[in-house]
Amino acid sequence: MLNIHTVPCLNDNYAYLVHEPTTRTVAVVDPSEAAPIIAALAMHNLKLTHILNTHHHFDHTGGNLELKEKTGARIIGPKADADRIPGIDTGVGEGELLALGIKIVRIFNIPAHTRGHIAFWFEADKAVFTGDTMFAMGCGRLFEGTPAQMWESLSKLAKLPADTRVFCGHEYTQSNGRFALTLEPHNDALKKRIIEVDDLRTQGLPTIPSTIGIERETNPFLRPSSKELRKSLGMENADDATVFAEIRRRKDEF
Ligand code: ZN
Ligand code: FE
Repeated sequence: MLNIHTVPCLNDNYAYLVHEPTTRTVAVVDPSEAAPIIAALAMHNLKLTHILNTHHHFDHTGGNLELKEKTGARIIGPKADADRIPGIDTGVGEGELLALGIKIVRIFNIPAHTRGHIAFWFEADKAVFTGDTMFAMGCGRLFEGTPAQMWESLSKLAKLPADTRVFCGHEYTQSNGRFALTLEPHNDALKKRIIEVDDLRTQGLPTIPSTIGIERETNPFLRPSSKELRKSLGMENADDATVFAEIRRRKDEF
């Protein structure tokens, strides 16, 4: 199995070390900054071989150049945004397969937060890295895409097996949960999860990873077909994409 280590960066970002022990291949996903990654590598006695970027934003690529210079790691990111990924070696897109040691990674294009956003799916290890597209109980802002695009991107991720672990780019879970509760105050899975999340945060622990199954039950952005949510919005007869757009609009104002 892969070993996945969470590395807190900046204020509320997470980078992840993905360690494939058979070949000692070690990737970092979305290094915001180099120093915490270097410290985590030293703590786990690992040598970095790859940098994986979900999208171009500085809080996901800020450590690229320093880490590449210090370790010689190869940088892999979205082909559609290759010109905005510092130090990129390989651009990848929808359906492509990469080898990380003996592990296979599948790429999904999941645009809307940025036009070139991708996800990394390790099917055998039940893990997906979703950057700023799917958060625990939330989704990213629409900086470079439409609600319809984001709905399509999230729907792609929501189809993954329920036990797939979701590793996202930020610790936004508590405030996402408070927003979700305004739309589905009677969702028992949501209420239970908010208690668990508050408990983790009180202990200073990450709420990540989530799973696709938990997200389907608690993430309002995956739940435009929920009767209660539609009633809260007064949108009983709209199509899912339209309901999704309204949820995103309300979250922007929350
Ligand atoms: Zn971002
Ligand atoms: Fe971000």
